[in-house]
Amino acid sequence: MDTDIAAALRKPGTWSTARVRDLCDQMVYRRDPDAVRERREEALKGRCFFTEAGLDGMGTVGATMSAERAAIVARVVERLAAQVCKHDSRTKTARASDALFALVKHAPFGCDCGRPECAFTVVDADEVAANAARIVIHVVTDSAPADAGGEHGCDRTPCGPFSRRGRDN
Ligand SMILES: [Zn+2]
Repeated sequence: MDTDIAAALRKPGTWSTARVRDLCDQMVYRRDPDAVRERREEALKGRCFFTEAGLDGMGTVGATMSAERAAIVARVVERLAAQVCKHDSRTKTARASDALFALVKHAPFGCDCGRPECAFTVVDADEVAANAARIVIHVVTDSAPADAGGEHGCDRTPCGPFSRRGRDN
């Protein structure tokens, strides 16, 4: 396996920590899929949701979850946050924060420009979310290496470097 890793590392491109980890996961997976699966199951058991009180009336919410779900959440929030015209006054990240809240609250999300001709005055957050989630699920499943994910009949159990989607993701 060390030889495989060394050979792979000689390929051009930058090697982020995440990329090296994924590479090692793939190689371990090829030789010992059960070990990878067990490690991922253990990691998944530690998923959590947290809130923190901040200064000046601010608060933080966060959650850990499978990489697949995190990708879906990020995609949905970013897609909704993008539903504004160029006159919206907020920063991209502030809009994303508003978009996340709108999704949780089933509240309308819209551009804050106040222009009567703006096409994004009221955006259906649930509709944008449903469409964006569908797109990212395709991206996640399509990027699973053909020889790594395999069909294990797995449900929520991650089964490869880019796990195939579980039923309830
Ligand atoms: Zn606008």
